[in-house]
Amino acid sequence: MTAGKSLAELRAGGKPALARALARLESSPDDAGMTALLDAAYVTPTAQVIGLTGPPGVGKSTLAGALIQAYRRVGKTVAVIAIDPSSKRSGGALLGDRTRLRTDPDDNGIFVRSMAARDQLGGLAEITYAAMVLMRALYDVVLIETVGVGQSETDIALAADTVLFCVQPGSGDALQFMKAGIVEIPDIIAVTKGDLGRAATRAQADVKGALGLTEGRQDAADWSVPVLIVSANAAEGVDKLVAAIGEHAAWLGADGRLSVKRAAQAGAWTQAAIKERWGREGLRRLSHLSSGSVTDLTRETPFQALAGFARQL
Ligand code: GDP
Repeated sequence: MTAGKSLAELRAGGKPALARALARLESSPDDAGMTALLDAAYVTPTAQVIGLTGPPGVGKSTLAGALIQAYRRVGKTVAVIAIDPSSKRSGGALLGDRTRLRTDPDDNGIFVRSMAARDQLGGLAEITYAAMVLMRALYDVVLIETVGVGQSETDIALAADTVLFCVQPGSGDALQFMKAGIVEIPDIIAVTKGDLGRAATRAQADVKGALGLTEGRQDAADWSVPVLIVSANAAEGVDKLVAAIGEHAAWLGADGRLSVKRAAQAGAWTQAAIKERWGREGLRRLSHLSSGSVTDLTRETPFQALAGFARQL
């Protein structure tokens, strides 16, 4: 079975085929057929990958539901990876649909999968990235939802093209996220529960103020982080949010920014995967290898790089 054929089969097979592929990814991530499938998926991305993060209770699941509906209305297909923070240390198991997200099970344009959070690689398991790569080649939008409790905000930036950070009105989140040093992570900030009125506009002003205070965001010159008020419950502001996500995609698409970003993510993932599997010894060996052998992802996919590294051990 060639990789191209299997990716085509995956496209044709719909949700059951993807579910089977994810199960295979979990049971035998290193088999040659799986690596070939991941390679094929890696080089044919179709989706914008959106990372949705923020503290528990901020309204991420509700907003994810609203975003899915908005994308489905314009005919875009959506795959969701919901990182389940309650199941750390469960070995990166794919959990089935344990997410609170409610979607129409008969809609073939939506695929939802929960995954266990991990301690290693921050909140994102090695397998999450591979699953994202598969979904990225099959859908128009991939949404990765993760609870923002420190490290996971940084990790989401290792997988997402566009990071959407949610802030709760009246919670002090605005100041909190300044303090936590994650101000550089989000590409878009959504103040949730806009129906709360003044508390939401105050939070928006606080966040804008906090952003204004930070100097040195690398791309500040050409991408200014929008701070938008949304109410998923009242279905207000969601269209503007979708538009902002689209504008970020367009911005990334210009001047090759997206490929640079994805290549950097792939490199970081490869290194993290090597560290997770082979520990410090793996990283030491990595640094001893001649440059270009593993980390030159212009010549090989991260999955080939990882397999190649394993062979050299
Ligand atoms: P998550 O933990 O970040 O995924 O948050 P949820 O989506 O589960 O929402 C947490 C709580 O906030 C729930 O009780 C929701 O009903 C409520 N919530 C979510 N969105 C809104 C909104 O737009 N307005 C209001 N008033 N409440 C909301």
